[in-house]
Amino acid sequence: MAFALLDKLVKQKKLRFDEWRDLLSQVDSPSFEEAKKRAQALAREHFGLGIYLRGIVEFTNICRNECHYCGLQKSRRELVRYRLSQEEILSSCAAGHALGLRSFVLQGGEDPGLGDAWLTELITKLREHFPDSAITLSLGERSRESYAALFAAGARRYLLRHETASHALYRKLHSPAQSFYERLNCLYELKALGYQTGAGMLIGPPGQTLEHLAQDCAFIQAFQPEMLGTGPFIPHKATVYAKAEPGSVRLTLYVLSLCRLLLPELLLPATTALRTQKASGYTEGILHGCNVIMPNLTPPSAKKHYQLYDGKAGQKTLEQTLEDLQKQVTSIGYHLVFDRGDHPRFAKNCEKSP
Ligand code: SAH
Repeated sequence: MAFALLDKLVKQKKLRFDEWRDLLSQVDSPSFEEAKKRAQALAREHFGLGIYLRGIVEFTNICRNECHYCGLQKSRRELVRYRLSQEEILSSCAAGHALGLRSFVLQGGEDPGLGDAWLTELITKLREHFPDSAITLSLGERSRESYAALFAAGARRYLLRHETASHALYRKLHSPAQSFYERLNCLYELKALGYQTGAGMLIGPPGQTLEHLAQDCAFIQAFQPEMLGTGPFIPHKATVYAKAEPGSVRLTLYVLSLCRLLLPELLLPATTALRTQKASGYTEGILHGCNVIMPNLTPPSAKKHYQLYDGKAGQKTLEQTLEDLQKQVTSIGYHLVFDRGDHPRFAKNCEKSP
């Protein structure tokens, strides 16, 4: 049984913790290529050769948190902070919409100035301007009431990476004020409210072992997210991890392929962090089972202040970026898909609900 654990994963969509750990430890064995081959075939079976696009607007870099790896952490007093106006956010989305995008992600730091009234007004305007488009939020931890209000206004997807499913590692990577259980609780609240929910972990932050990653896989298996954002940790020069080793591209690709095998219908982006670490990151991600790319719609004047990590990719204009993405995906036989790209379980409802 050369690939016994991969066989079991494909068949049962479920592994024990020790099996995850053993499978992850095979990253330098033939399992790597085999997982890639199977993940690619599975993604094609479910999504064909189409790659979904999400235009991301990083509309605030104000943050109350101290994630030790992140360049937006509150204690960075020298960082110029910004929050885009509703008009600026709408015009960023309009630029993407004009070029065919139908899915927008509004991301930001955990900005205490983002009240529900302001956000619901923004979401209502986005729904009015772009009724054919999906709105995803990625604003960190909020109350159940707030998530419910944003859902009622028309947001239908929420990205909240769990960052790590190890309590011990979570503690090391974040300030004492941040609660591992609270973050997980937010994910369960989002799911219960009916959001298409995105979890995800960093690959290779300081102190992470394969055991920790096995905990991430076991968590994903239990939580069954619709989306998964996962990419290599990349050091940021102004953080305590400035001199740390970045996460491994190979391990990231391997984990992506295993996540595809675990959840065949998963919306799985080839992340900007992967692309930052390797020029061919998008195409390699796709060949390992990814089916989403997230071009950046943030206005350049703001984008330069949204450096989560050093060397973040994406300094071109939107037209250039889309043209370049089109070239990259066609070079491997795929094409870009310009629609909302709902999770298959949610797709049939999208005409009725926003
Ligand atoms: N405030 C939101 C958005 C966070 S930024 C939230 O809490 O969800 C989006 C993601 O960037 C984070 O979830 C984290 O996984 C990733 N990120 C932050 N710093 C990073 C780094 N140094 N290297 C790689 N990814 C990083």
